Amino acid sequence: MTQQDYKANTAVRKRRVYMRKKICRFCADKKLHIDYKDAKTLRYFVSERGKILSARITGVCARHQRSLTTAIKYARHMALLPFTSSHVLSD
Ligand SMILES: [Zn+2]
Repeated sequence: MTQQDYKANTAVRKRRVYMRKKICRFCADKKLHIDYKDAKTLRYFVSERGKILSARITGVCARHQRSLTTAIKYARHMALLPFTSSHVLSD
């Protein structure tokens, strides 16, 4: 892969991430709660490698990002979410 290919690849990926609407999902949908047991929802805010995505990327507001971070960390402790990509279990 040439450097140019790499640049093109990352540009596409970045654009898709940043094109996402910057609306806090939890503020928009009052029924949606941040629950450490809800790994399916939390997975949306975690990168492929298991890292917590920044609010700048996901568009979550500061208040919800804070509770989200706590929930993800708790979910990791409960083995519902991976700490790293090497911890991923097959579903
Ligand atoms: Zn919010």
